[in-house]
Amino acid sequence: MQSVPIPDKKQVVEKAKGAFVGLAIGDALGATTEFMTAQEIKLQYGVHDQIIGKGWLYLRAGQVTDDTEMSICIGRAIQKSKGWDLTAVAEEFAAWVGGRPIDVGSTCARGIRNYILHQTLEVAPSRWSAGNGALMRMLPVALYTLGNQDLLAQYVVEQAHITHNNPLSDAACIFFGRLLHETMMGAELFRQLLALTKSFVKEYPDFCYVPYPGKSSAYVVDTVQTVFHFLFSTDNFEDCLVGTVNQGGDADTTGALVGMLAGAVYGVEGIPKRWLKRLDPRVYSEVDALATYLVEHSPALLSLKD
Ligand code: MG
Ligand code: MG
Repeated sequence: MQSVPIPDKKQVVEKAKGAFVGLAIGDALGATTEFMTAQEIKLQYGVHDQIIGKGWLYLRAGQVTDDTEMSICIGRAIQKSKGWDLTAVAEEFAAWVGGRPIDVGSTCARGIRNYILHQTLEVAPSRWSAGNGALMRMLPVALYTLGNQDLLAQYVVEQAHITHNNPLSDAACIFFGRLLHETMMGAELFRQLLALTKSFVKEYPDFCYVPYPGKSSAYVVDTVQTVFHFLFSTDNFEDCLVGTVNQGGDADTTGALVGMLAGAVYGVEGIPKRWLKRLDPRVYSEVDALATYLVEHSPALLSLKD
């Protein structure tokens, strides 16, 4: 594989911000069509391409859901602890659940309850844990471990196992982190990222996405296939996001994940202004600040000069 030149610090921070803001945008846009079928979306919206809230959660326009909120929990835990502390992550999840969030996935709820009752930081392995709930929140770990793939693999799986202990979920968490690392260091979508994804799919054929099976459920395989399909069949942030959320299913989560990767690839400047204006401003400023903090404290940036 072709090596990429070391980018400057400012570019890396911009890509990190693009990833976290992109995740929140994808969540806010996709929440409207979560649990709908592609046909139902077509009938109701034609093409859903505006952040209008509503959906089954009756959201305000620009409001985000658990995907963004749990990612923020992990980011806050790292910042408050000034390092990686799994108990601090679980505590943030527990406090978040205690605040009665608008939505909590059942596997996440079970894992967090387990922590609250028994201080368990790892649930038992289960084939029922192959949902996308650990994958949807792994972004802060990838930002914070930029430059060290071993730390990425360790931390991303530790955070996953608080609620989801499943080999397919683990593989997806590690690989999405890898894609983010490569993107932040300057890898290009249709060159290095596509090549990496092809070898990942060879290693884990479950995730094969060509031809696209068209399912976009919360099963991590369906989610990952949907993300790969729209990421590699579009060449800009807007088309990538619109295609994804109009597929329906777990649209806020597929939207968040594709928004995260496309946000890193195309940067904040690639995100349509009308969407940036609609995103809840408190969420916008927090994810922007967390992205900066996390990546600036990563091994890669700590070793780079300004
Ligand atoms: Mg959600
Ligand atoms: Mg969802």
